[in-house]
Amino acid sequence: MTKYIFVCGGVMSGIGKGVSTSSIGRILKSRGFRVTAVKIDPYINVDAGTMNPIEHGEVFVTEDGVECDQDVGNYERFLDENLPRDNYMTTGLIYQTVIQRERNLEYGGRCVETIPHIPEEVIRRLERAGKKAKAELVLIEIGGTVGEYQNALFLEAGRIMRLTHPKDVLFVLVSYLPVPKMIGEMKTKPTQYAVRSMNYAGIQPDIIIARSVMPLDEPRKRKISIFCNVSPEDVISAPDITTIYEVPVNFEKERLGDRLLSKFELRSRKKNNKDWERLVRKIRRANRVVTIGIIGKYFGTGSFTLADSYISVIEALKHAIWAGGGKPELVWLNAEKYEKDPKSLKELKEFDGIVVPGGFGARGVEGKIKAIEYVRKNKVPFLGLCYGLQLAVVEFARHIARMPGANTTEVAPKTKYPVVDTLPEQLINISEKHLGGSMRLGAYTCEVKKGTHAYRAYKTKLVSERHRHRYEVNNDFRETLEARGLIVSGVNPERNLVEIVELKNHPFFVGTQFHPEFKSRPLNPHPLFREFIRAAAKKRK
Ligand code: GLN
Repeated sequence: MTKYIFVCGGVMSGIGKGVSTSSIGRILKSRGFRVTAVKIDPYINVDAGTMNPIEHGEVFVTEDGVECDQDVGNYERFLDENLPRDNYMTTGLIYQTVIQRERNLEYGGRCVETIPHIPEEVIRRLERAGKKAKAELVLIEIGGTVGEYQNALFLEAGRIMRLTHPKDVLFVLVSYLPVPKMIGEMKTKPTQYAVRSMNYAGIQPDIIIARSVMPLDEPRKRKISIFCNVSPEDVISAPDITTIYEVPVNFEKERLGDRLLSKFELRSRKKNNKDWERLVRKIRRANRVVTIGIIGKYFGTGSFTLADSYISVIEALKHAIWAGGGKPELVWLNAEKYEKDPKSLKELKEFDGIVVPGGFGARGVEGKIKAIEYVRKNKVPFLGLCYGLQLAVVEFARHIARMPGANTTEVAPKTKYPVVDTLPEQLINISEKHLGGSMRLGAYTCEVKKGTHAYRAYKTKLVSERHRHRYEVNNDFRETLEARGLIVSGVNPERNLVEIVELKNHPFFVGTQFHPEFKSRPLNPHPLFREFIRAAAKKRK
């Protein structure tokens, strides 16, 4: 029988529930089990694709083209596996399915109700995800924190599963223990309340992962044990650390793997996490700094700066830098600054490399184009991802191919030189307002041209990469752009679409229509990022 581990959050969000889930997956996999992980997002959006990344962080895209939460990216990176569409669900998606089934008369005339039909649909999907992955252990991360209205129905699904399969379902609570400055002591009370909230939902956690700035001491462990009704060995100390990739190693030190398996009466088949431990040592030892600037616009919320919107790009950069023995220093640069103050462009020269990641809409576009022009002329290694490629093509058209005012029709629908434009099917989507889940999404093939930076990276002709965009390089202008020196080094063979562009006589100037960052793994950095970092490290020397 498949085993299920629900991971819930207590006290507050953003304390590393996703990384904890991923790390549990990693350690169970390293002990010889087939594991998969599912993310549940308790909002009405059917998928994450319609949300501004400032609201909810990066939109991650799976091979089969679902726009989902960034945690699925963490699962993929820690499990080192591609996950399918089945491993993601939202409240909106569940309701949409149940309502559609009601319309199809699939409930045989019964009154369709929130309970039990919504949790039933959740359970059906969890079982299906487990079966499809042939998983022995399914991890389920419930978004949000316990005690909110929003995720109550998902906790309810977990409660029912535990009731019907008491030996096959466990609950892990990832909770936070603050150390308020004015008190100078770690406080357990908020965690006690979080457990109470779970108890109200009919659930008792089996394991508590205690997140805090520092390790848990014995008195705290005992207190949590007594007040929260778990044995002291099931209270796992999870202090802040320098890299998230260290979390599985720390969990094993706290014997989390043993605890989980013994509760299921399972035994490790092996225990081999050597590659991972080696990576962590390498990260700790790294000291040759590589500085990369990321030019974006989804950084600010109020007075705070967040980098969550670009998490896969950031991780992919780190993977590549670590692989080369370097120490990443990543700096967020706001594109709009270069519009207001073009003089500040010269700061770009100080970086070993510049990334212009994906984006949407007009805000910040001119600043990004200015920055791309600057790094092109000043030979700073450049990697453009999706919008980054599109704007590199716009810049090239304007300044080298003599097409003044060239643009993407996303920003200037009436431009004389629409070098980036929609495909016909996307025009229909836009005019019919069919905008959710309708971009060019998921994996498509790309044929790589020999003798290019791209080929040097991939070392093979046919590759497959993940997409998320509505606009494309306009083939009507391709010949002119190529005649002027733009190299189209990757093309989608089925539809003859531009996938990679680059420039000659530049240490590294590459743009991709796809998002290579989604496929980078800590133990297996993406080849394009690796090449980009190689050029960046060289510039530094
Ligand atoms: N806005 C562009 C498009 O839709 C680029 C999207 C992206 O960068 N992900 O085509």
